[in-house]
Parts: sequence; C-alpha cells; structure tokens
Amino acid sequence: MDIAERIQHIQQLIHQEEISCHRQQGAVKLIAVSKGQPSDSIEQAFSAGLRDFAENYMQEAKTKMQALATLPLCWHYIGPIQSNKTKSIARHFSWVHSVSRESIAQQLNDARPASMTPLNICLQVNLDNEETKSGVSPDEAQALASYVLQLPHLHLHGLMAIPKQQSNEHLDYLSFLRLTTLLHTINQKLNINMTTLSMGMSHDLQAAIRAGSTMVRVGTAIFGERRGSLHEN
Ligand SMILES: *Cc1c(COP(=O)(O)O)cnc(C)c1O
Repeated sequence: MDIAERIQHIQQLIHQEEISCHRQQGAVKLIAVSKGQPSDSIEQAFSAGLRDFAENYMQEAKTKMQALATLPLCWHYIGPIQSNKTKSIARHFSWVHSVSRESIAQQLNDARPASMTPLNICLQVNLDNEETKSGVSPDEAQALASYVLQLPHLHLHGLMAIPKQQSNEHLDYLSFLRLTTLLHTINQKLNINMTTLSMGMSHDLQAAIRAGSTMVRVGTAIFGERRGSLHEN
C-alpha cells in the first residue's frame, strides 16, 4: 500500500469506530506523525487530504517546514520540550501536546508572538508514572491546568498521554479511559470545558477512540517505518 491508500484505510477505521461508539462523524481528527519521514512523504499525505502533521524534534521540523512553506499545513509539536527550544516551538507550531511543567508553559507563553493566535496546548499526562516518560502526574495535572489557564498567549484545549502498552485491547481501553476521566474531573473542578483528548497511535487507535479520543497521532501506520537519525535537536 502507498501512503494515500494507508491514509484511506486508517480514515475508514476511524469512521467505523466513530459509528460503532455512537460518536459524531468527524469527532476524531487524524494527526500524521511525520518524525523520521522526509518532506516528500508529507506532500503525499497532504495530497491525500491530510493537513495536520506532528513532529518531535525542533531542528528536524524546521527543515521540513521550510521545504513545505507553500502548503497550508497545521504543525503540532508532540516531543519532549527543552528550555532552549521553547522560543522556536512557540513561533513555528500551532499546537503543542507535550506541556508538562509550569516553567515550560511560562516560556512558551512569553515567546508566543502577540501577533499570532494563542498557542493551542494539551498537557501531557504520565498516566502510569513511568520514569522513562515525560508528563505531569495525574495528581498534579489540575494544578498545571490552572496555571496554563492564566497565561494569555496559550489556549488550553485538553490532555495528551502515551499510556503503557498493555497485553490486550481492553486493557489499553481502560488506560485511555483514565485520561478521559481525568479530563472530566479537571473540567468540573475548575469549571472549564476542555474538549481535546490527544490519545491513540498506530497500534491502539481504536481502543483510544472508544475511550473518547478526539485526536489520534499516527506515524508508522501512515508512513511505514521511520528513517531514523534525523533526530538531532
Ligand atoms: C512517534 C509518536 C507517535 C506515533 O507513533 P506510531 O506508533 O508511529 O504511530 C505518536 N505520539 C507521539 C508522542 C510520538 O512520539
């Protein structure tokens, strides 16, 4: 299958899952994770109808953004955020899914040009408190949400997570459901209405949609294996 066929296949899966869970058609947005993939693969995905692309490394993203500057793409940053990268991230991306600390949120806010719309934000939650993964702990997510809400150049939309992969789909579903529940709890406690749940990747997107995902971040299922080593930041 080529990229266009894979995209069509994934969009069918998403559509079927929306129907079987009685979710609204179009409730789930497909974000193409293009890290480790060349610009011409992104162009193919664009031709197949995708507009949202996600990258994990600023330097790698910049090269592709320059190469594809004439296309109306929406760029999402989903990687770990180092302090020395906040300035470029705040200027070059529309969305950041991986905010997990107050200091980083503050720096992104300060670096977001006032001439641009506020930077769209999801808080990354470390659902299983795994040492190898970044993200705010579920217990501290509400406090971080309060903090982000008072920053004028950030627009808080919701939560993102990469739960530990489980041995079967039902357990994956239960992990995702914890993020959905956390979103609802924080909405109630803070009297706000976050609506974005950025969860689900190539191998678990159906379980994520069943649990309420509104954005699935899919890389290898669209583009195939990553070419690797474009990673230097
Ligand atoms: C790489 C990555 C993805 C995509 O993973 P695939 O398994 O290739 O679909 C999604 N989210 C994040 C945060 C990633 O780093």
